[in-house]
Amino acid sequence: MHQLIKKVLVTEEQIIARSKELAKQITNDYAGKEAPLFVALLKGSVPFLAELVKHVEMDIEFDFMDVSSYEGTESIGDIKILKDLDRSIKGLDIILVEDIVDTGRTLTTVKQTLLNKGANSVKIVTLLDKPDRRVVEIKAEYTGFEIENEFVVGFGLDYNQKFRNLPYIGVLKDECYR
Ligand code: 5GP
Ligand code: MG
Ligand code: MG
Repeated sequence: MHQLIKKVLVTEEQIIARSKELAKQITNDYAGKEAPLFVALLKGSVPFLAELVKHVEMDIEFDFMDVSSYEGTESIGDIKILKDLDRSIKGLDIILVEDIVDTGRTLTTVKQTLLNKGANSVKIVTLLDKPDRRVVEIKAEYTGFEIENEFVVGFGLDYNQKFRNLPYIGVLKDECYR
């Protein structure tokens, strides 16, 4: 275990097993339909996307978006698109891939943005969910793990851009924040 990690909340084995289950559900839900386009939000969802799509049994494509919230604004839906999709998504079924749903602001806005671009449907798959932190009502169709209201790192999630490469989800020691 990394020396700055206080405890592990979700192990690598648990993440892999749960990703397989979610991929199976997605494969079943889209059986007989046009394969969905996976849209992953940079950078946090990259390890989860990579784990998930290995187990999806459809000829899917994936693309990336990078968004940032405007600092200092409280209004919902104020995001800046730093990197947009490479292609038109008109008429496509989208699976939006996220690392964690916290307040729900980011996903609410991105989902609406994708619908405005003409997506036929948008479903959300998230590795983690902190339901107690929700400000905007939004529910992912596919959730890996629900966790308590605690700041976590690993498997894509960062603290000052570090710790994204840890293969598990963990909590940092208090000394990291001093
Ligand atoms: P929200 O749902 O509040 O709009 O934003 C979710 C985003 O906040 C996530 O994509 C992630 O970047 C960040 N975030 C929320 N909770 C955590 C956490 O516990 N750890 C880390 N590293 N990032 C978090
Ligand atoms: Mg994120
Ligand atoms: Mg971050």
